[in-house]
Amino acid sequence: LLDTPALTDKQREYAEVAMSCGESLLGLIDGVLDLSKIESGSMELDASEFDFRRFVNDFSEVYSLRAREKSIRFEQDIEAAIPKRLKGDTTRLRQIYSNLVGNAFKFTGRGRVRVSVTLENEDDRTVTLKTIVEDTGIGIPSDKLGSLFDKFTQADASTTRKYGGSGLGLAISKELVALMGGEIGVESVEGQGACFWFTVRLESAETAVASEVFESVNERLRCEGTASQRRVLLVEDNEINQRVASEVFESLNCLTDVAKDGTEAIERVASGRYDIVFMDLQMPVMDGLEATKRIRERESQSEGLPLPIIAMTARVQVEDRVACSEAGMSDFISKPFIPSTISKMLEKWTPN
Ligand code: ADP
Repeated sequence: LLDTPALTDKQREYAEVAMSCGESLLGLIDGVLDLSKIESGSMELDASEFDFRRFVNDFSEVYSLRAREKSIRFEQDIEAAIPKRLKGDTTRLRQIYSNLVGNAFKFTGRGRVRVSVTLENEDDRTVTLKTIVEDTGIGIPSDKLGSLFDKFTQADASTTRKYGGSGLGLAISKELVALMGGEIGVESVEGQGACFWFTVRLESAETAVASEVFESVNERLRCEGTASQRRVLLVEDNEINQRVASEVFESLNCLTDVAKDGTEAIERVASGRYDIVFMDLQMPVMDGLEATKRIRERESQSEGLPLPIIAMTARVQVEDRVACSEAGMSDFISKPFIPSTISKMLEKWTPN
């Protein structure tokens, strides 16, 4: 709706309100689901190898942009002694960083946000990292410091109105940090800024095996032909989603076919017509993970480059992402998706 031409100012304003409320509601649902999962003891951490520096850099890119928009400085400092390759749950680690750094930006109007990571401890198999996130924002009243990590707690009642949020982020971060064998805390002087810190214990991974599917697939480019129109296969059972996604692909100058379940997807992919596949996960007959596994099995028996398969996951199911990469999916986007995300995926995976 927001991308359609000729909206009146009022219509645009209402649509923006609906969009922003929708996003808040999704954020709240995400938070509640994460917490209930942690509290029921069913949150399992993944342990995959990753490059810590790259992890921080990828994540910082987003915030550098944010810093420019808000005209504040964003500094980061990673101690050189931290081993390059570590093993841990990057999705959950990113969640902690996003929460603390996101808050720092949210509550800081001028000055700077600074992230520093140091090596606290190291033995044969594990490293303990300490991260400090400091800002020069509004700070937190001293009588509120003690309860900040409780569920649904915000420093003052006007926070939701002014800054949004649900008061769940820090509670989730605290639980995640504990699952990673660490601690979290805060110091602050009201009006002068806040300083959040946390530690996590991660495994060190000395041997650099390129085990991550994303990385290996990422390195190859599909440069077949020069056609400017991409041929997209959309695998999606929900009719409304089919319509919305097809419109988005059309607006991005793609030729789109729709398959309504995994078996149909496999048949269509066998025709070799497509540049990229966008695959829903939950579908009747055969789901997206199974279909992807079978497509990858077939590919392994023939030559040629793997077809980019992008999972479309509901945003609330973060750990689905692990399952996606294990099934051989190239990347994922969360639903409900916005056109710019699709466009970025097309650029990334079908650059020609
Ligand atoms: P949310 O940000 O969604 O409200 P959080 O649990 O992440 O929830 O944070 C809880 C509250 O802690 C915030 O509402 C805010 O009052 C306070 N807070 C968190 N980080 C900061 C910060 N960097 N500066 C000032 N206040 C903060």
